[in-house]
Amino acid sequence: MHKASEDRYENMPYRRCGRSGLLLPAISLGLWHNFGHVDLYDNFKQILFRAFDRGITHFDLANNYGPPPGSAEENFGKILREHMNHYRDEMIISTKAGYHMWPGPYGEWGSRKYLIASLDQSLKRMGLDYVDIFYSHRPDPNTPLEETMMALDHVVRQGKALYAGISSYSPDQTREAARILRELGTPCLIHQPRYSMFDRWVEDGLLDQIEKDGIGSIVFSPLAQGLLTNKYIKGIPENSRAAKSHGFLQKDQITDKVIDKVKALNQMAEKRGQSLAQMAIAWLLKDERVTSVLIGASSVAQLDQNIDSINNLNFEIFELEEIEKILTN
Ligand code: NDP
Repeated sequence: MHKASEDRYENMPYRRCGRSGLLLPAISLGLWHNFGHVDLYDNFKQILFRAFDRGITHFDLANNYGPPPGSAEENFGKILREHMNHYRDEMIISTKAGYHMWPGPYGEWGSRKYLIASLDQSLKRMGLDYVDIFYSHRPDPNTPLEETMMALDHVVRQGKALYAGISSYSPDQTREAARILRELGTPCLIHQPRYSMFDRWVEDGLLDQIEKDGIGSIVFSPLAQGLLTNKYIKGIPENSRAAKSHGFLQKDQITDKVIDKVKALNQMAEKRGQSLAQMAIAWLLKDERVTSVLIGASSVAQLDQNIDSINNLNFEIFELEEIEKILTN
């Protein structure tokens, strides 16, 4: 059994998720990459222990995380069972369904059939009676939104999930989903969109919409999968996400133009006494509508560095202007 650090709640800030009763850590840990059967068990076990020891109470999964799909849930479940089960009530565990998971017409998207079967599978893989948050992982253009939201409401009423969330829904889809869920009596807790200095679509209506509806947000790929760090400045290191065949970061995303911006941002971060990763995370947390920043990490050292972004969350106006200039150049 893991004995967690006694002072784990002393430094991490916790933020209220929309107008709910739930507080989330300013930084949460995602298991999309680095926790599959292709990865090193002892390494990700140490990452999980360290995250919890430093106040990260929230762990984000999905049915398809791995590879192979499902293996991140299996590995997380094993570590929980063998080492951390006594902390279950101190944890917020989320999973999702929406992307391709099994063959045939019922293995992806947003039908009631798929969502409910998928959550049952996720619970089995993790060895849990319930998850804290269950998400519709992406909007389904061909399923009535009512059906998808009714499935979320249903699993909450069954006690298989405590809260319902949505991911990557547009502002209009979010407004509708929130209305339907409210009418069903299961308010939408949280929206999970992509948001980083390099991808700012949420500033175009989504953050305003969630604020209106009292929904919290947890933003994914805050470092643009590693681009917003100093790691790609001198090429593509071995073992980085861009170098791995199963990594989602493509080499052609690392253009000279991107690297020029990264270098300029990196210099700014140095002046602030932070790493670029830390500045990129702090920059997201300056907006209070961002409840939590959902990071990934392939080592304990990366995790520690990223959590340390909470040591300097303030920006001077001139720094924000300078960042805008670099980003829009
Ligand atoms: P990030 O943008 O934080 O990228 C994480 C990766 O960047 C790490 O795995 C590591 O990659 C590299 N990295 C992290 N910290 C450092 C550092 N300090 N120095 C150098 N490199 C660093 O987030 P992710 O893209 O991993 O997304 C985070 C989570 O968001 C996922 O785990 C998942 O839970 C969620 N998500 C949700 C989606 C959705 O559709 N709802 C879609 C995508 C993600 P390397 O291997 O190169 O070391």
